[in-house]
Amino acid sequence: MAEDLLSAIQISEKVRQGLIRAEDVTVAAIQRIDALDPDLHAFLHIDREDSLSTAREIDKRVAHGEDPGPLSGVPIAIKDNICVAGMPATAGSRILEEYVPPYDATVVERIRAAGGIVIGKTNLDEFAMGSSCEYSAYGPVRNPWDRERVPGGSSGGSAAAVASGMVPIALGSDTGGSIRQPASLCGIVGLKPTYGRVSRYGLIAFASSLDQIGSMARNVDDAALLLGVIAGRDAKDSTSSGEPTPRFLSGSGNHGKGIKVGLPVEYLEGVDPQIESKVREAVTVLERSGVEVREIRLPRTPYALPCYYLICTAEASSNLARYDGVHYGIRAEASGGMIGMYSATREQGFGAEVKLRILLGTFVLSAGFYDAYYKNATRVRTQIRDEFDRAFQEVDAIIGPTSPITAFKIGEKMGDPIQMYQCDVLTVAANLAGLPAISVPCGLADGLPAGFQVVGKPFAERDVLRLGMIVEEGISFPPGPQGMGVPG
Ligand code: GLN
Repeated sequence: MAEDLLSAIQISEKVRQGLIRAEDVTVAAIQRIDALDPDLHAFLHIDREDSLSTAREIDKRVAHGEDPGPLSGVPIAIKDNICVAGMPATAGSRILEEYVPPYDATVVERIRAAGGIVIGKTNLDEFAMGSSCEYSAYGPVRNPWDRERVPGGSSGGSAAAVASGMVPIALGSDTGGSIRQPASLCGIVGLKPTYGRVSRYGLIAFASSLDQIGSMARNVDDAALLLGVIAGRDAKDSTSSGEPTPRFLSGSGNHGKGIKVGLPVEYLEGVDPQIESKVREAVTVLERSGVEVREIRLPRTPYALPCYYLICTAEASSNLARYDGVHYGIRAEASGGMIGMYSATREQGFGAEVKLRILLGTFVLSAGFYDAYYKNATRVRTQIRDEFDRAFQEVDAIIGPTSPITAFKIGEKMGDPIQMYQCDVLTVAANLAGLPAISVPCGLADGLPAGFQVVGKPFAERDVLRLGMIVEEGISFPPGPQGMGVPG
């Protein structure tokens, strides 16, 4: 079996024991990327030289009897809205085409310190705004399960890279579902941590009160391993939490006795019946393991999506004001002095969806409309949080589908932003409430992956991972897309 198709945990164990070399693992990953990526377009940048020299360093340290850390020799892909020193960080936008950050994001620093090999940067919707990767200024990503279909978004490049076996793990970011929805559409595991669990320093901001960085992997344990490396307080991000980082890895032998979960009736409304039946199978798996599953109600659910789109556009309009041709990226030549240069740069640098969101956000924050839109949205957000708090008095976690639909055809939703926004109907609430949530594969619906979501109490990533693991162990899911040779 090729070394790059081992799990992250297996690679790290074998590298630390000197059974395989980090260099060979890295070479194999690069070969696989070179073979598959011209078709999938999951990567925007591949760093062959640096990743190979880092791998050789790791091998030397092992040879000297050192332990390079829990990610020893593990190739990892980084979503291109997270800064890696010396590599481009475009965030999928023309406006950052020439931007090369001089520093590592805190998560990247921690990955390096744990012995991980940063192999490259993955494709995404521009500024992480989208659910299909079609809004990337650099061309769409294809779903490894069906090349005519989208991988989901916005972390679709990371999802496709992991699902196709190019890398065992990747980082994504999740503002309204961007880790979980592509994980669901590509048949992998995606974990959005509690807001504050992971530092956002070095993440190119979209909506700061919602953004979180998290793991994407082919199994729950690898997702837990990566979270353990990146989690924890960071003085460079004042919203990062001092909550201690527990041991997230669960080990095997999971049972669900004593755990109560709620399945909200609202979470099955409008869901593809085939996905619903896969979710019900996962529910049976949980029940068989001893989990008590109850039907619950979360009546504020229909308000989560409009609330999210008011808040995220408002925050985006403020965060994206810095791209003006002065500080970062491209600068357009234009007449009309400074203002002319600003507007020409923004006109040429931003894509249509990003412009739409900046305009919407500016509108909802403008005098006269602020109270009706933004302020009301923040009130609804509090109500949604309160509703979760109340539910968590009865149950330990909330379950349901991750996405109401499976991967759709490239181009299918491009004419209709509202249809694209509907993709997030089941994921945004966890971001509004800042809760941890995972998506794990729960079967195939018409040959395409379906995802099962578990939302937990604040900082209860361990519960979420444990429930995800029970589903993973109890469900039969193909090891990877056909023809890709991805082992389980
Ligand atoms: N698809 C959602 C949006 O377009 C979520 C994006 C994200 O989580 N970054 O806003």
